[in-house]
Amino acid sequence: MGRFAVVRICRGRRLATSNRQLAIFMRSPEDYISKRAQGVDASGIRKVFDLAAKMKDPINFSIGQPDYDVPEAVKIAAIDAIRAGNNRYTQTQGIASLRERLRKEMSRELGRDVGEMLITSAVSGGLLLAIMATVDPGDEAILIEPYFVMYKHLMTLVGGKAVPVESYPDFRFHADRIEKAITPRTKLLILNSPNNPTGAVMSEAEVRAATDLARKHNLLIISDEIYEPFLYDSNGPLFSPGKLYENTVVLRGFSKSHAMTGWRVGYACGPEAIISQMTKLQQYTFVCSPAPFQYAAVNAAIDLPTTQAREDYRRKRDRVYDALSKKFEVEKPGGAFYIFPKAPKGMTGTQFVAKAIENNVLVIPGNVFSERDTHFRISYATTDDKIAQGCEILCRLVP
Ligand code: PLP
Repeated sequence: MGRFAVVRICRGRRLATSNRQLAIFMRSPEDYISKRAQGVDASGIRKVFDLAAKMKDPINFSIGQPDYDVPEAVKIAAIDAIRAGNNRYTQTQGIASLRERLRKEMSRELGRDVGEMLITSAVSGGLLLAIMATVDPGDEAILIEPYFVMYKHLMTLVGGKAVPVESYPDFRFHADRIEKAITPRTKLLILNSPNNPTGAVMSEAEVRAATDLARKHNLLIISDEIYEPFLYDSNGPLFSPGKLYENTVVLRGFSKSHAMTGWRVGYACGPEAIISQMTKLQQYTFVCSPAPFQYAAVNAAIDLPTTQAREDYRRKRDRVYDALSKKFEVEKPGGAFYIFPKAPKGMTGTQFVAKAIENNVLVIPGNVFSERDTHFRISYATTDDKIAQGCEILCRLVP
């Protein structure tokens, strides 16, 4: 009898039994995939990027990062940090000089001592840690829909439940709708202003309504403020819920403000008990944000004004809105670098996006950010020429 005398198929796996009575499961690679990973769907954005790969020199309105490079002074600071030997692990919570500086800035802005800061692996890292530190299986988080895709998936990954509450058609904060969605399991209210994908900025009155609601129902607010420098209808600073409500975890970072998306530097402040748990979890996950880039952030980026970028993108916002509002139902965004028009009558967001792509304009269907398929997202972080050409084509596609 040979070594693998008996080979049976057992629930999709090949079960081999040797003549020494050893049982070996021969699994296919798919068999190793956890239910957790299977519960997360990447298909929406992937489809668009697959299509993009086939396009020749598209007008690319899909990119969620600035069209400028890291400022020269910040590059030099990073290179200097590498040359000076700042290439090792930092403290889990980040280098002291950056934390102290950010603590001062955030305390001044929020009008109280914000306590210990945590330097995160950009805002994505902060989001994961905040959700891991607070959400138990079955706990619910309210998301304002349309929402930044990561929130929903992170909730799924930790066994929580994302509860989207629509903000259509005006993308404002509708406290009444949100209150109706609150259950005894609701733990988090996730806010994102300026918003991806709509560009909406919460007014002070809306922030007050949100914090009143959170206080009334004992919710923790996670406030994703990554687009905070990109405010077009005021010169800022952003009115953060962290100003009014201490049970707020504020997340910010350098990815968008200084085009450091590949460098992974962000920061979090909030209730001490939560920040210390996030720090503990960082120890076993990200370990630390990359050392040289933390130095570049404190030695250069933090002192560079972002006013020029704000002016440039304000102008781009005006151009895109002026062009598209002639043909599309669209809200004027107050910040970030996105606009979220409604697809023309009789078409879903996906159908219109397919048409746009056939015409060499790459945009993202709204159902990537929403349970609905009625809109599409444009990122106008591109040149004025591309904006003019792209908008002209999109308007031509409206029947
Ligand atoms: N939050 C929002 C709303 C975003 O749009 C993005 C990136 O697109 C992130 C967080 C993640 O940013 P980071 O690169 O800092 O992880």
